[in-house]
Amino acid sequence: MSEYLITRTRKSAPTAAGHEHVIEVEINEQLRTVAEVIVEIRNGEDDFYTLSPSTGKRALIHPWTCCGMPTLHSDMKSVPDNNLDSLPVF
Ligand SMILES: [Zn+2]
Repeated sequence: MSEYLITRTRKSAPTAAGHEHVIEVEINEQLRTVAEVIVEIRNGEDDFYTLSPSTGKRALIHPWTCCGMPTLHSDMKSVPDNNLDSLPVF
């Protein structure tokens, strides 16, 4: 089991519902697709998390389906600024 810190995300174009989906993430300056991350989480091999700049708290990342498409989201117990959606984008 390894743990990976997600530092940035790439988002889709806005959907018909008017929001964006995380489609790619940056870990150790390398890009991983959402599909790759979901496979590793589902296999129980690895944990992925984000860190809050203000508190240093970590939030676990979970597979998520939005608009019928696979994506990722942060643990709902997270403090606001360690949410996956608040990371810088690339
Ligand atoms: Zn959606």
